[in-house]
Order: sequence, then structure tokens, then C-alpha cells
Amino acid sequence: MPVLKNISALYTCPPDGGQHDVGEIRNAAMVWADGQIIWSGPEPDLPKIYKGYLTYDARGRMVIPGLIDCHTHLAFGGWRADEFEMRSLGRSYLDIAKAGGGILSSVDATRQAAPEKLLEKCRVLISHIVKLGVTTIEAKTGYGLDLDTELSVLRVYRQLNNIGLIEIIPTYLGAHTIPPEYSKDRRKYMRTIINTVLPMVNIEGSARFIDVFVEDSAFTADEARRILMAGMEFGLRAKVHADQLSACGGAELAAEVGAVSADHLERVTDQGIQRLSKTGVVAVSLPLASFYLKQPPLPARKLIDSKVPVAVATDFNPGSAPSWHLPLAMTMACTMQSMSPAEVLKGATAYAARAISVDDTLGSLQPGMQADFAIIDAPDVNHWLYHFRPNACVATYKKGRALHDVSETEAVYPWY
Ligand SMILES: [Zn+2]
Repeated sequence: MPVLKNISALYTCPPDGGQHDVGEIRNAAMVWADGQIIWSGPEPDLPKIYKGYLTYDARGRMVIPGLIDCHTHLAFGGWRADEFEMRSLGRSYLDIAKAGGGILSSVDATRQAAPEKLLEKCRVLISHIVKLGVTTIEAKTGYGLDLDTELSVLRVYRQLNNIGLIEIIPTYLGAHTIPPEYSKDRRKYMRTIINTVLPMVNIEGSARFIDVFVEDSAFTADEARRILMAGMEFGLRAKVHADQLSACGGAELAAEVGAVSADHLERVTDQGIQRLSKTGVVAVSLPLASFYLKQPPLPARKLIDSKVPVAVATDFNPGSAPSWHLPLAMTMACTMQSMSPAEVLKGATAYAARAISVDDTLGSLQPGMQADFAIIDAPDVNHWLYHFRPNACVATYKKGRALHDVSETEAVYPWY
């Protein structure tokens, strides 16, 4: 039964409470056993029964729940650095897509990639991601689009879960865009999703969520409704890529079908926010995508003021957000979305867990929750997100076991 002491600030991030309620405990200690949190609180209150157990020293650093990246497109073939150059010189994301680049170029590369290559690529990416304190990620398909490649990507996610470094929550995003072979018959592609791919995804039991990209360049709200309803009949919960490049009714649709999250929302209307506020749908903000596409971010303050929980994720993908750095996205959420560091922390832990329906066990360090946590080399959350550095995380624990731990060997940062 290990005990972690000398924690400058412990953030329990309770699943309930408001956006700013991160359960900060100064001068704290924490106890875990069998992969679960047993006790967390002020160190002077540590019950005597835990005092003889194996003790770790946080050396005055802060402790947070393991970070949850609740929106990634982890598995893809190739990269798109050439498009980055074009966008840097002023060409728009939609222009590049119309010229054959964008998502379709990743579809091409992903279909050509051998599954074992994709697996190895993801495994290496995850070995970096985990060192940032990230213990769970949602990962979407959507760069295969055909039956074989979509199923193959979902199998890659299952194999990654079996490796056991990080927990992967898989989402089927066949409705990412219309594949080139269906460009003249989009209805036929929708029938393929509904009648061919979804039944196989169901048989393999390989996805938990169904997602649709609602956008002028992808699917209308009516088309998305049909696809989401079909997925829900197979027991998948709905997610929506909503109102990213234009207000297409994505937020309204997410509210209507009871989606677990509405992601992006850069162009959400006041009506969309109003609909979300009555439903408990989590708004997932993706500041890296706004940054890379030089777009205004989502109106986080309006959403928070309307009691919509706001999560923060990376949107890691080879086009619009080619970075898996969740703490960087968190600092950007402070500067670009006018959220406080505490609000952002809640958004990358408890609310991120809610956005992928794992908040009964993950995203919080209250007793009974899974012992996923990170030791961050900063005295508190304000210092951490204010002074960005490549990696302030010195230890990542999953189910009470170290995935990465340099807390003893690395010097404590000069916070004086
Ligand atoms: Zn996305």
C-alpha cells in the first residue's frame, strides 16, 4: 500500500462541481492499493494506519489525475508537412482539401500502410505521450474509410490496449469524409457505413463511440443524424465534430441525439450553446487545431457561463493539429480561450473522462477511483501552465504502477 507524501498541491478533480472545482489540497498525501486510490487529503490528517507503509516523496511537487486526451486521430499513414508549408503561406484548409490534399491524402497513405507499421508508429508515439502525464486517450478511425482499413485500425487500437502502456478508448469515425470511390454517390457510402461497416464493428466489439464530421465539406446534419442513430442502435455512444469551420447545426444535433460530446465548436451559435446547456453534452475544445488553422477558438467563457462542461484535448492528427502535446494545448486553452489554469485542468481530467464516458473510474483522485496520476514538477497549477516547458511531468502512474518515473533523479525545478 504505497503512500505519496510531501505533495505541494494535490488536485483531486472531483467528477462533479463546477469547471473551476479541482479539489486543491495543499501539503497533501495520497495512498493507493490494488490500482485504486484509498485515501487523499492534507498530510497532517494522514491516518496512522498508513504510516508504516512504503513511502514515496513528491519533493514538494504537485500531483494531478492522469491526463486524458479525449480527442485524437492517433493512427494514420504518412504526415502532411508539405500542406503545413502551403497553409503557412496563406492557403486555406478547405482549398487544400479541394486540391486533393487534406484528409484524402491521409486516407491514401493509411490504406497503403501495413497494420504492423501502423501499430509500431502508434506505439512509439504513445511512448512519448505517456511521459507527459497522459494515461488515457480516445483514438478515432477515419483515415481508412473502407471496411478493411477501418477494422484494421480498430484492431491496432485493441493491440495497443493489450500492450498496456496507456488506455485507448476507440471511436469509429467512418463518416470523416466521403472517400474518393464514392465521390459521385454519397448516399451509397452512407449505406456502406450503416449496412456493412457498423455491423462488423459491432461483431468485433471494437469501438465504444461513433463520430461524424458535420461540415460543408463532409456530412450535413441530416446525414449525420442517420449515421449516429444507426451507430447508437449497435450500442455505440455518439460524438460529433461540430461547427468547426462553419455553423452547420452540429451542436444542435449533438444535443438532439444525446451525444456524449460535441467537439470543436469554434463557430457554434448562441442557439447551439443554449441547446447544449440543457443536455449535459461535454464541449471538447481543441486549441491546437484553432492555432494551426489560424482560427478563433471556441467561445469557452460563454459555454462555461451557460453551464456546459468544457474539456480540453489535442485533436492530434496529421493535418490540422499535428501535435500530441496535451500540456501545450492546456496552456493555449488559458491564453486563447480565456480559461483559468484550474478550469483547464478540470477540462483535461474529470471533464475529459466524462467526454468519453469513463468518469466513473478515471479523471479524479478521490478514494475509489483508479490510481492513474502524474507528478508535475511545479508547485501548483498556475505555475505549471504559465511557465511552459517541453515536459514538466516527472512521473506517470497507471493503476498505481509507474509507466515513467524520473522524480528521484531529476532536480526539482528552481521555482524561487
Ligand atoms: Zn478531430
